[in-house]
Amino acid sequence: MLETLHRIVQTVNAASDFREALEIIVDRVADATGADVCSVYLLEADAHHLRLMATHGLNPAAVGHVRLPITEGLVGLVAEREESINLENADRHPRFRYFPETGEEHFHSFLGVPIIHYQSRLGVLVVQRQARDRFNDAEVAFLVTMAAQLAGVMAHARVRGELAHMDGEPRDEALALTGIGGSSGVGIGQGYVIAAGASLDAIPDRRVDDIDAEIGEFSDALEAVRTDLRELAGRMEGQLPEAEQRLFDVYLQMLDGDSLVERVHAHIREGHWAPFALRMTITEHARRFEAMEDAYLRERGSDLRDLGRRLLTRLLALEERGRPLPAQTILVGEEVSASQLVEIPPEQLAGVVSAGGSANSHIAILARALGVPAVMGVRELPVHSLHGRALIIDGYRGRVEVDPAPGLRDEYERLAREEAELTAELAEIAGEPAETPDGAVINLYVNTGLAAEIERALEIGCAGVGLHRTEFPFMISDRFPGEEEQARLYREVLEAFAPLPVTLRTLDVGGDKPLPYFPTRDENPFLGWRGLRMTLDHPEIFLTQLRAMLRASVGLDNLRLMFPMVTRVEEAEQAAALVQRAREELAEEGVETRAPLVGAMVEVPAAVYQAESLARRLDFLSIGSNDLAQYLLAVDRNNSRVASLYDELHPAVLRAVADVAEMAQRLGKPVSVCGSMAGEPAIAPLLLAMGMEGLSMSSGRLLRVKWVLRTISMAESRDLLAECLACETPGAVRRLINAAMDRHGLGGLIRAGRY
Ligand code: PEP
Ligand code: MG
Repeated sequence: MLETLHRIVQTVNAASDFREALEIIVDRVADATGADVCSVYLLEADAHHLRLMATHGLNPAAVGHVRLPITEGLVGLVAEREESINLENADRHPRFRYFPETGEEHFHSFLGVPIIHYQSRLGVLVVQRQARDRFNDAEVAFLVTMAAQLAGVMAHARVRGELAHMDGEPRDEALALTGIGGSSGVGIGQGYVIAAGASLDAIPDRRVDDIDAEIGEFSDALEAVRTDLRELAGRMEGQLPEAEQRLFDVYLQMLDGDSLVERVHAHIREGHWAPFALRMTITEHARRFEAMEDAYLRERGSDLRDLGRRLLTRLLALEERGRPLPAQTILVGEEVSASQLVEIPPEQLAGVVSAGGSANSHIAILARALGVPAVMGVRELPVHSLHGRALIIDGYRGRVEVDPAPGLRDEYERLAREEAELTAELAEIAGEPAETPDGAVINLYVNTGLAAEIERALEIGCAGVGLHRTEFPFMISDRFPGEEEQARLYREVLEAFAPLPVTLRTLDVGGDKPLPYFPTRDENPFLGWRGLRMTLDHPEIFLTQLRAMLRASVGLDNLRLMFPMVTRVEEAEQAAALVQRAREELAEEGVETRAPLVGAMVEVPAAVYQAESLARRLDFLSIGSNDLAQYLLAVDRNNSRVASLYDELHPAVLRAVADVAEMAQRLGKPVSVCGSMAGEPAIAPLLLAMGMEGLSMSSGRLLRVKWVLRTISMAESRDLLAECLACETPGAVRRLINAAMDRHGLGGLIRAGRY
């Protein structure tokens, strides 16, 4: 059965459209289960009707026309109950209803399985037989598995608009997609998909008018690949066995042969853009080779695909260069990367939409740092069809509107205008202290990591830097930066903020921040070799960084040092000892440094329970709530499938944060929060009431948080905290804090617009 399922899935994936995919499924499933009938019903947008979308065995004329209310018939019952139903005498069931259009009267046994995608009901998959015998366990299991596969295919088709098209209703071009708000704000612009890195099979079709230009581009790519191959062959000469070395000649011959080039040209002349013409050609040719009996010739199929990938990379690079960025660019991708984001000039970047990731993925943090709205985890994002389309993104609600209707666009433009007004109003409190109406004061620090952030932070005013993430230069480089290079970077930050304190965090890579030149290959990276664990294992890397930090601080003396991912007391001790050793080494070299304040991040549950032990040994604690929530809730902060479970208002997270604050205060050590919750205006009063010495956040959030703190008194915040700590669900906490914001007219800080 598994083999059959696998084959069906493969064929379905190769189908040219959704209709064909459904037809394949009903035919193959009927065949595999020995059923006389197999049908797929789709739940309509009204959620009250099911429509027959494909059938093997029923009247084909009924497809697209038969509509059943969900409250009637056995198919309706499957959808209603969201449970499989397996009957040998379907016609005797009280919910049986005969639909004459389908001609299903002779079928007695019935097995219906709901098609569900991430809790959302999409339809029903049914098999029927004339004989009065129940489908056996293996058949039920097969159908359930098939329905789960079909759910993914259907959900994809829905976002591509293929479903509306199929059931004969007018095609609605406007599309609304839902993900997770990654960075608040409203972005209005045009989709821009970076195709580089795409695989040949993922290349979408695009129509082109300028055939000659497209052929010219393909010729350039061909020439570039020829040069690459010749160079590679030259470099490898003598290093490879002869057979492998000959491969380069084979590739070059393939490129020089007419058949490949001619086919690509022919497809371009049909109006396809060059990458798609290449995809079609390579697929056609490779299939021919791969079907051959001779093993040697079969191998040529994979050579051809490899060659295709090389050509594609070159072609996309050429295309990319030739494509102007829209004035208001909304960057769209399966997994948008940090380097893609920073490549777009800030004045042109209006937003980010990513199929993967969640609110606390590092790419979302980067977007917040840059003040760019972002929507993450849009699972059914039809990435390639969004290039060049009008998009609106609502980073508060995690919504993406594609080709929005004029009315909706007007509405969002109004909200964006209001936001701009609010931002202007907020600028007026830039020089004011973060002081509550009843005189409580808290330090508002910024999180930095990119040069652009430093400028923004200085413009709005802050108490210093509560978290400087040092990993970005490591991530976008192709080797470990040296001591000099690092010292220069750290000096820039320390100098920019002096005499205000700057907290430099030591390297925090691993997890979702791999280094391309230092592969870690953990099966479970978030529980693996990351943060301090990695740097303690590599004192040469750690000491270089510590020395660079210390040297950068000479004469400024505003350096604070902080360690990420501390899980054991000994780790903090070892790290602190290495700081001391770096100072001694520098002193021996004649560089005298002041002892910096040294602190640990509390971002794993173990550190929560040992907060006192850590506080006793160090100068301060800083709560990394992004990771702390991830580890407390056992929810991968990047996994869009469980993103709805990731919630920093979960009572367990609030409790842990409050406990750490209490323990640190007991020892008289300052404690702050530097995870994203510190920058949430509605949460800030709770953190203030817990007794935090500071909150550190991206500069885009600072004035919003300050506004709230200057509005809500400490007394009221304390009451609110007590109420929140008594809540048992995140929803209850959220209702309380949002109500407090609305009571004070601060709704504009938690949703789009002014109110
Ligand atoms: C955190 O985990 O809360 C934190 C601030 O660190 P990062 O987001 O860089 O992992
Ligand atoms: Mg962290």
